[in-house]
Amino acid sequence: MNYIEPHAHMVSRTTADYQAMAMAGCVAICEPAFWAGFDRGSVEGFRDYYRQLTEYEPARAKKFGIPHFTWLCINPKEAEDAGFGREVLSIIPDFLDAPTVLGIGEIGLNKNTKNELAIFEEHVALAVKHDLPILIHTPHLEDKLKGTRLIVDSLKNANVDPGRVIIDHVEEHTAGIVLDAGFWAGMTLYPESKCTPGRAIDILETFGNENIWMNSACDWGISDPLAVAKCSIEMKKRQYTPELIQKVVFDNPKKFLSQSPNFRI
Ligand SMILES: [Zn+2]
Repeated sequence: MNYIEPHAHMVSRTTADYQAMAMAGCVAICEPAFWAGFDRGSVEGFRDYYRQLTEYEPARAKKFGIPHFTWLCINPKEAEDAGFGREVLSIIPDFLDAPTVLGIGEIGLNKNTKNELAIFEEHVALAVKHDLPILIHTPHLEDKLKGTRLIVDSLKNANVDPGRVIIDHVEEHTAGIVLDAGFWAGMTLYPESKCTPGRAIDILETFGNENIWMNSACDWGISDPLAVAKCSIEMKKRQYTPELIQKVVFDNPKKFLSQSPNFRI
């Protein structure tokens, strides 16, 4: 079955992963800017990363017949130094006209600090100014609930259209907060933490199939670039119809991502 991988950090993956994803039916990959596994030492380090995301990685994906799109930002972990965060923010507009840029992301919170929130709000203002959709990272474990509430409140205060915002890494205790406020929700399928396929399907059965997607996030840690394809097999085992599986792994991400004119498959 064809599917969209709406959140994958392919700069950390091998060509064998691209090949496996192509064979599993992946027809588009979207890569949000994030932490690189290490803190970058300068603004120029980010400029190189944005070039990698907008030039090199789409060319690498193309070799496997998969269109590659990206989202740009400075992640909350490195934005804790707000002065540095603002310097990096100032170069993002240089890349917004690249043909594969979808929007601003993944912004959000890491440890729910004041500095992180300030830079988050400046990213939101940048997205509003350029009329771009937003992809949001929510913190891990014990920081997730508080961070999700802070993010939802901040977006409400900024009067952002919730239909143009996806809040990712939701779990059982945060999916309702996100969906009830009109935002889209993303579930990240990880072998060890966040959602397993089984938990993700339980969340679908609790909160419904509208305005929700699944992704593998596949990054530098233990993660699985085929997680979405494997979850669709799990859905089949649980008697989901092909139409319903397609809605979650293809139609829903296509609907949200198509709000960016650059998303074409
Ligand atoms: Zn990510």
